Amino acid sequence: MTDIVADIGRGRPIELVKGPDAICGGLTAEDRRACDHDCAQAETLELDRLAVEGVVGLLGADFSVPVVIDESMVVRLRAAFTARSIRSACRRCPWSDFCTEIAAEGFSRTKLFPPDA
Ligand code: SF4
Repeated sequence: MTDIVADIGRGRPIELVKGPDAICGGLTAEDRRACDHDCAQAETLELDRLAVEGVVGLLGADFSVPVVIDESMVVRLRAAFTARSIRSACRRCPWSDFCTEIAAEGFSRTKLFPPDA
């Protein structure tokens, strides 16, 4: 995950996919079974759909092709996330408190374009 995030920060285009992505797809079958949030589960696919709806609606980018995410896009995403305007997926997500805490800390410990870098 750390390597992928670093690559994205250096301009690696991202592609929105249905189901396991480059991160979750790298887990072992055992890890995938142990995860209660597996990306191939119907509930998780629905959370992903809601999250994509919020992100695409905010950025207005054409995500039918790979997109380079720059710092200004991340700043906009974080502001909207903090304002809860792109969090419809979070209402049903077990990690909601954790992500709320990250936003409340100003994303200070995040790896992609950390605010104080
Ligand atoms: S709570 Fe966090 S992990 Fe869950 S959908 Fe929202 S941003 Fe994603």
